[in-house]
Formats: sequence, C-alpha cells, structure tokens
Amino acid sequence: MEEMNATGAESGRKLNFLEEIIEKDLAEGKFPDGILTRFPPEPNGYLHLGHAKSLCINFGLAQKYGGKTNLRYDDTNPTKEDVEYVDAIKEDIKWLGFQWEKECYASDYFDQLYAWAEQLIERGMAYVDDQTLEEMRLNRGTVETPGKDSPWRNRSVEENLRLFREMKAGKYADGEKVLRAKIDMAHPNMMFRDPILYRIKHAHHHRTGDKWCIYPMYDYTHGQCDSIEQITHSICTLEFDVHRPLYDWFIETLGIYPSHQYEFARLNLTYTLMSKRKLLELVEKGYVSGWDDPRMPTLCGVRRRGYTAKALRTFCDEIGVSKRDQLMEIARLDNCVRADLNERSRRYMVVGEGAVKVVLTNWEPGKVEWFEAPLNPAEPEGPSRKIPFTGTLYIDKDDFMEVPVPKYHRLKPEGEVRLKYTYIIKCDEVVKDAEGNIVELRCTYDPTSKPGAGEWRKVKGTIHWVIAEYGKSVELRLYDTLFTEADMSAIPEDKDYKDFLNPQSLIVTQGLAEPALLEDDGDLAVQFERVGYFIKDADSTPEKAVFNKTVALKDSFKF
Ligand code: ATP
Ligand code: MG
Repeated sequence: MEEMNATGAESGRKLNFLEEIIEKDLAEGKFPDGILTRFPPEPNGYLHLGHAKSLCINFGLAQKYGGKTNLRYDDTNPTKEDVEYVDAIKEDIKWLGFQWEKECYASDYFDQLYAWAEQLIERGMAYVDDQTLEEMRLNRGTVETPGKDSPWRNRSVEENLRLFREMKAGKYADGEKVLRAKIDMAHPNMMFRDPILYRIKHAHHHRTGDKWCIYPMYDYTHGQCDSIEQITHSICTLEFDVHRPLYDWFIETLGIYPSHQYEFARLNLTYTLMSKRKLLELVEKGYVSGWDDPRMPTLCGVRRRGYTAKALRTFCDEIGVSKRDQLMEIARLDNCVRADLNERSRRYMVVGEGAVKVVLTNWEPGKVEWFEAPLNPAEPEGPSRKIPFTGTLYIDKDDFMEVPVPKYHRLKPEGEVRLKYTYIIKCDEVVKDAEGNIVELRCTYDPTSKPGAGEWRKVKGTIHWVIAEYGKSVELRLYDTLFTEADMSAIPEDKDYKDFLNPQSLIVTQGLAEPALLEDDGDLAVQFERVGYFIKDADSTPEKAVFNKTVALKDSFKF
C-alpha cells in the first residue's frame, strides 16, 4: 500500500460544506468519541472512479477529524449480488489506501429490521398489501394529485402480523404481497405515500443463504443500518436527497440513534460513464475484455492501466466536494497520474513499430560498450540500469525526416543528433529499397562526444534508441477513451450508449525495448523516455512482455 495523505488539510484550500458541518458539530461537542462515516456499496459490480470519490470523502473526512469509517455492504438484493464483487470491493478499497473500521453487511441486521417491522405493525403503522405492483403504481397518485388508499390498508394488527409472518415463512409467491408503512397516501412528498418496506423474493442470498424469502427495501434499510452502527455522518450522492425525509422518519418513529444523511454531487467524467448496470453490460456482451479492461473506469481497470492510487486521491482532493452535478475532464485525472508518475517512475528507452534502422559505419565491428543511466533522473545517485551500445540500432520513425520541416531538430540527412546517454551521430546516407522505402540510415558517430569524456558538445536534438542485437520485442497496447462523446450523460434515453463506443479505443502494436526494461519487477508504471508511461500487463508471457500505455507525456509523442 502506498503512503497516505489525509485529504484536504494539506492542500490549503477552503473547507468544503461537509468539513464545515463536521467542524461545527465537533465545536459543539456533539461527537466526543469522534465521527463515524461509512462507505455503503451494493455488491453488484466493481467499484469505479465515482466510488473512489465517495471513498475519498468518507475515509478522508474520518482521517482528517480523527474518526473512523465502516465498510457496509448494502446487500438487500440477492439476485444481483455476488461474493466475487464483495471480495473485489475490499481489494479496491485497500489498493486506494484506505482501511475500514468494521466490515458490515445490511444482511447482518435482517433480524433486527424484521423485529422493527413487526413493531411498526403492532403500532398500526404498517400493513400487508395484496395489490399488484401495477395497482400500487396507479394508486400512488401524482405530485399534483393525491393517491388512493389500498383496499387492504385497514387490516387489523392481528391479520397483518399473521400475514407478514406467513410471508416470511414462504407461504406466498414473489410479488403476491408486500409490507408497506401506513403513512399518508396524500402526502405531498411521494416518498411518504405508504412506502414498501418488504417484498417477497425467493432467492438465494450470498450470505444468509435460504433463510429469508422477504427482503427489506433500500429506504427501510439504509437509515436503520446507519443507526445500528451509530454512523454520525451518512454521506451519499445527491439523488438521495428526496429520500432523506423518509430516512429521518424511520429513525424518529423507531426512536433509534439519530444518524444524519448529507448529500454531495456524483462525479461524472468526460468520455466515459459510471453506471454499474452499463459497465456490466459492456463486460457481459464482450465490448471490453472484463471489469479490469484498462479502458474501463473501474478501479481494477485503471489500476491495470497504470493509474496510481495516489493520483486518484490527489484528483479527488483537487476537484473538491460539490452540491451541484459535475462533469470533470478526464484530462485532469490524466494530469494527476502524469504528475505522480513523473516523480516516481523508472525510465527506459523503447522504440515503436516502424522504427528506423541506423548503422554506424565507423563503429568497430563486434565492439559492445555499456552505458549506465539512472532509473529516475530525480535521483542521479539512485539505482541505475546498464544500457548496451553497438553499431546497429533503431530509432523511432518520427525521429528521422528525410525532408525535414523547419526547426526539425531530430535526425535528418547531413544532420546531427545526440543519442540519449551516448554519442552524437551524423546521418551520411539514406539507403532505400526498390520501392523507395528506407532500409537503413548510414551514420557516423563522433567518438569525442562520449558523455564524461572531455568537453560536452551540444547539438539541438536528443533522441532515444534501442540496440538491435540487445533489444527485446514487446507488445504495446495503446488506449484511447472508451467513448467518443464527451458528455455521455447527455445521450438521450432513446439512443443506445453503445453506439458511441470508440472503435479506436485499443490499438495493439509492437515495440523494441532496452533489455533492462524486462528485468524491472516493480509494480509502478514506467516511463518510456520521450513517449509516455506504460505498465507491464498480466497477459505477458516469458516469450513476450505486454505493456499497457497509461498516459502520454505532456508533449505527446505518438508511436
Ligand atoms: P451505480 O449507479 O453505478 O450502480 P450506485 O450508487 O448504485 O452506483 P453503490 O454501490 O450503491 O453504487 O454506491 C456506493 C456509494 O458510492 C454510494 O454512497 C454512492 O452514492 C457512491 N457513488 C456511486 N457512484 C458515484 C459517483 N459517480 N460519484 C460519487 N459517488 C458515487
Ligand atoms: Mg446504489
């Protein structure tokens, strides 16, 4: 795990609205034992960058104010949930650098939730309804018009208790009955028009097995779970603000620990989308190779792509917490990744597909020289790598121009360029085949230009290179955005978001790498000098290493 920075404080920015609320609460002495937040994923998919934002807020606030954070799985929907997701979520949270206090499950509280439901029935505040979902929907009314009471609304307490227990015992089929709170079918807030508390679902649950065939609804579950755990600040996304009055109503009606809910705006990023339902569809229909496809906005995807946890935390801190929906530029996240990798990553030289062969005509045949270069220029005395040099090498195709554009400082006929870490070479002759394709460049090297030997001679361009005999061929997977549309949330519902998948989002090409790259066993992305950041992929075999492009260098150089 990487080293941690508490979110917020050190960046010297002004407090966000959540920090203001917490500082006020603490100043009033409300939470002498510290604050307690929670992160409540539904285990029905992998975590994405939006969740990273929620994680940074929940864990970040707790860290900043000496509090704690629970991980709570909101596992009330057995048909969509799976242990695969439960495990992956934990792995992702740890990778991001956070450690939860307690690992909780809404399903741990099913007995308590059930007992409270019986209590509500006994108090005449809940009833079993036999209407179909469609009937309930029709009788709910609209914002302008009141709803209609269910014909089953005035069942006796005894009958309701008996029916609810029979529901629990498995006497009824899915959808045959529900338990509803008896509040007010004319309430101006539609959420209060006798919300459903329990539905029947004969399904196997990944934790409770076949113990239950009735499952509590979100609104009846979330606040009470917060209350059981004594969560002080229950932070969720904006779409839940309409649920808050009901959240409060259950807590007040049951007279339990008064957790409070606060809402912030979801994170949206350009050229991608973050709905688990859609991401699942991309995986299931094979549009991507899996949840961890490096083009996916999932945490396992961006990790495989080479993004760092530190960069994600910096990004979340920089974009702040807002009460209005935000569409953030993916380029901003890329900048955070670049900044982190620029500081920490090791450097290697790699040339891309179509590299140009260079032959040094004055090089003594068979001679091999070894140069030593730091793995990270920020640490000139730090670890280094050895780079072999002979008279036959490759340079990137863009580093040679036969008819150079003005101010072209790389290699050109009669021109000179420095090979990074080594000699200056001069291009004497361009050798072509019958079709006019360049076969090789015949050059001479200047032995007096060897770094460290005599006076440093300066030429305008420096390029990277790889020695033919020692180079290792590698597969390079170059990525572009998954979608072609910047604001995917603006795609109308009647259009298929899959029509906006970017056909160029993955390009597979080949490269030739200096040998030391293949010996690097670090798990951080490395810099291919002058090109960008790349990370070794798990698809690598002993015969062929595979590298994912994480992000380009700022001055984008394309293979
Ligand atoms: P999705 O719509 O992708 O299924 P969700 O909200 O249903 O997302 P949950 O597993 O319920 O996913 O989310 C866990 C927590 O993460 C919730 O508190 C939720 O509000 C928050 N969250 C989800 N998506 C985002 C996002 N894009 N930005 C910020 N927070 C998010
Ligand atoms: Mg959800």
